[in-house]
Amino acid sequence: MGIKGFQGTSLLDFPGRIASLVFFGGCNLRCPYCHNPALVLEPESYPDLPLDEVLAELADRRGFIDGVVVTGGEPTLAADLLPLLQGIRDLGLQIKLDTNGLAPKVLEILLQRQLLDSIACDLKTNPARYGELQWPGGQGVGIQEGLALLLAAPVPVEFRTTCVPGLVESDDIQAMGAAIAGAKEWVLQQFVPSHAMEPSCQALTPHSSETLQAFAELAREHVAAVRLRGL
Ligand code: SF4
Repeated sequence: MGIKGFQGTSLLDFPGRIASLVFFGGCNLRCPYCHNPALVLEPESYPDLPLDEVLAELADRRGFIDGVVVTGGEPTLAADLLPLLQGIRDLGLQIKLDTNGLAPKVLEILLQRQLLDSIACDLKTNPARYGELQWPGGQGVGIQEGLALLLAAPVPVEFRTTCVPGLVESDDIQAMGAAIAGAKEWVLQQFVPSHAMEPSCQALTPHSSETLQAFAELAREHVAAVRLRGL
């Protein structure tokens, strides 16, 4: 799946820096609460943006952006990812990658080639429950190898969890915390039902602020720096 979108500047996704955003289509998960359902379910409905055009746009913006956030969908599935990142590097720009961590071999190559300055990894739920997020008929998905790689990564890694009721409860926080014990940063995000992929998710009532505060306390048993976002 190719590059599906380009956004000139964003202050939000690369904290403290002005960045452009590049979106890839397609994903190896099918999270019912996904906020980019069209990119995941119908990526072919968007035209592929040619790599050289995207790099030319970024070259034009070099004077007023610090870096590029590469996101999706899931960017690690895309054949264009490596040449895109190398092209961004050649422009002298910083790179942040958003990933679900399910392609550790790709991440390993990107880290070896020093093509990443920071990573945000979505930790969805208890690692034992990832099968609930796979595509129908999927053969199982494992996050443990990716987490081990990211915990040892030589660049800053932000783990972040959207606290979807039913998918993220106290037991799941404990299991996730154990899986990323010692991580530098874990962000627990409030779930926003609007725009969720599945109508069943759109009907959910988000966890209360008190519940998220309690989750954060549990999470701090495993990760020193836990932040709440979206309250
Ligand atoms: S991993 Fe991210 S992009 Fe993929 S389906 Fe889940 S929320 Fe959507």
